[in-house]
Amino acid sequence: MIGNMQLNDEGKLKHFLSIEGLDKCLLTEILDTAESFAGMSAQQVKKVPLLRGKTIVNLFFENSTRTRTTFELAATRLSADVINMNIATSATSKGESLLDTIRNLEAMFVDMFVVRHALSGAAHFIAQQTASHISVINAGDGQHAHPTQAMLDMFTIRQLKPNFSNLRVAIIGDILHSRVARSEIQALNTLGVAEVRVIAPKTLLPAHVESLGVSVSHNLNEGLKDIDVVMMLRLQKERMTSALLPSESEYFKCFGLTEEKLKIAKPDAIVMHPGPINRGVEIDSKVADGPQSVILKQVSNGIAVRMAIMAMAMQTLPSSPGRPVTQAPSLAITGGL
Ligand code: ASP
Repeated sequence: MIGNMQLNDEGKLKHFLSIEGLDKCLLTEILDTAESFAGMSAQQVKKVPLLRGKTIVNLFFENSTRTRTTFELAATRLSADVINMNIATSATSKGESLLDTIRNLEAMFVDMFVVRHALSGAAHFIAQQTASHISVINAGDGQHAHPTQAMLDMFTIRQLKPNFSNLRVAIIGDILHSRVARSEIQALNTLGVAEVRVIAPKTLLPAHVESLGVSVSHNLNEGLKDIDVVMMLRLQKERMTSALLPSESEYFKCFGLTEEKLKIAKPDAIVMHPGPINRGVEIDSKVADGPQSVILKQVSNGIAVRMAIMAMAMQTLPSSPGRPVTQAPSLAITGGL
């Protein structure tokens, strides 16, 4: 159902709400399109006119550093006008409903909402309710999904380990509350990795987690064997309603990633984390800042991937790539703006 509403009548991306329902071909199109934007950060003029004249509203009802900033950078590099709604000082704090906020912003002729909300399904709700010319991008909804994080992580993995069918990926930590984990599992399985393994204490795993298409381990020392990609997750304390762990130091002892534990994975394994990292809770500083860490590469890649998703949803790519796409469009900057 979500899958269908994310695509327009021609099968092209209209909203980006969840990885669920999107096929390998579309995910690959996003990665290929992002590839064509990736070099832009090194250019003197970091702009293309693809979204010139479009207005994008960043609606972040939950805190964010990386996601909000890279969405804003991505939009401005596409030459869009960007409005960052400060929810703390907006009428939401006076009791205005989400729907009324959306209706009022629609009346200002905006073209896209980028939404982060504590409630699962918020972006989906807005996409259902909003005017038909407006695209909605989910920047994280409750415990449900964080699809752009998953795509920037797929992009980062593909840069370093292009053969997905050989890859064993471990996702470690608070799977239960993680919208990132849900979207990563869907993206990795859709792109056809050999194995997605979740490693966590029983209290931090959802019921019937195997049905998501993963294998399960409760022991980091065993679970890290043969792993190519190690994805660490933060303990989402703001979403925990009861005490699920004895203590943070006990958690670090059993599930924290140290240099010694990382040696159990393949020698060329990469270490990822969506941020924010909690040093000494889920990851040791020596690993976070070490040679196998690609954590800051993930952040950089967030710009190109979010540019790709926004340009695709607005249908403004030069060759209007339909599906399937075999080659990324050339987006060489012709003199900037
Ligand atoms: N930044 C990610 C998110 O928004 C992960 C996290 O907050 O731990 O879900």
